[in-house]
Amino acid sequence: DYDLSEADPEVYAIIGKEKNRQYKSLELIASENFTSRAVMEAVGSCLTNKYSEGLPGKRYYGGNEHIDELEILCQERALAAFRLDGNKWGVNVQPLSGSPANFEVYTAILKPHDRIMGLDLSHGGHLSHGFMTPKRRVSGTSIYFESMPYRLDDLSGLIDYGMLDKTANLFRPKLIIAGASAYPRDIDYPRMRKIADEVGAFLMMDMAHISGLIAAGVLADPFEFCDIVTTTTHKSLRGPRGGMIFFKKDTVHGVDLESAINNAVFPGLQGGPHNHTIGGLAVCLNYAQSPEFKVYQNQVVSNCRALAYRLIEHGYKLVSGGSDNHLALVDLRPSGVDGARVEKILDMASITLNKNSVPGDKSALVPGGIRIGSPAMTTRGLGGEEFVLIADFIHEGVQITLEAKRLAPGTKLQDFMRFVSSSEFPLKYQIST
Ligand code: PLP
Repeated sequence: DYDLSEADPEVYAIIGKEKNRQYKSLELIASENFTSRAVMEAVGSCLTNKYSEGLPGKRYYGGNEHIDELEILCQERALAAFRLDGNKWGVNVQPLSGSPANFEVYTAILKPHDRIMGLDLSHGGHLSHGFMTPKRRVSGTSIYFESMPYRLDDLSGLIDYGMLDKTANLFRPKLIIAGASAYPRDIDYPRMRKIADEVGAFLMMDMAHISGLIAAGVLADPFEFCDIVTTTTHKSLRGPRGGMIFFKKDTVHGVDLESAINNAVFPGLQGGPHNHTIGGLAVCLNYAQSPEFKVYQNQVVSNCRALAYRLIEHGYKLVSGGSDNHLALVDLRPSGVDGARVEKILDMASITLNKNSVPGDKSALVPGGIRIGSPAMTTRGLGGEEFVLIADFIHEGVQITLEAKRLAPGTKLQDFMRFVSSSEFPLKYQIST
């Protein structure tokens, strides 16, 4: 049995390069984070060797006494981390990631072609909330269910709850999905609950992006108002890559949520759980109950505010005018650049963030905005002053993008990308950020 460096130098070298990239870049992708060494130790452990289809005490394989203990501990910690009463709420910690967790909920409580409403992808929603284009049903959710997205108000950049109310009353969805991938504000759960009740729909919150902030009590609590709450575990929560589904221990609209959801996970859509991930998740959920975690999450929010204010000082337009959480969405269109070009230029300066659609955008490939998140660099120990500096770097990147656009031959994105990657792109711009 060899160490990786001896057993497979090629993979070892690639991991080394990725580690170096993560170490030396400014990681601003809102959905990413650096998990702890303790979590990685659990994820890299012998737990990966074991098959354990089923739930604790009801497995389809022998030898699961320790895996049962681990999964029960993980469930208990998940409920405790979100201050939930185990008589009223249950949790399944087996989903392999966020998208499978969401699809598992849909298959648990809906029939094929039932109607759903989630936030439009181009307005900050996620693919798994029902995304489709006028020409194509893109995600499994929109192929197997009938989706009518709700949207932001173009002027305020806030969820247009009034329009959601009106549309829901016409469309009569069976499920309304709260939650987003690129929404800088908190969510009005009482309002969404009221709309769901008016039309007799389930209300599910996908808290993937903000589950760390919710666990720390920094943002509003969705559990008071929702029937089901899903999450990924690797974003603001700082755990291993994975997913969880929380459900009310209740029969809602004739569905016993506990058995429907557990059956949808296994045998419905998954086989053996990833026990190494469940081990890492248990470690993460223990940490999520600590005072340091609360301090960290408060810092995530204040760092994001410092960045947002500085960008506003530089004259940028932020969708919704600011941020309540861990991310800011910058509308670059008034600055004369797009998100794709700015992402490329910043990438060349080891500043990693992503292009993002903003309300009113025409193209998802060349969208008008960028999304900037604070969780990862807060984990690296940066504070408000450093985030102000990051905003200055981003501003410099936008200036360089404008200059590169002026110098680049042709107007197409490919021409721009080719030009800035070539030796014709002045070196001073490549190193000035
Ligand atoms: N839900 C939301 C709100 C997300 O932002 C994401 C991923 O970015 C997911 C679900 C999907 O998670 P995964 O990539 O783990 O499938």
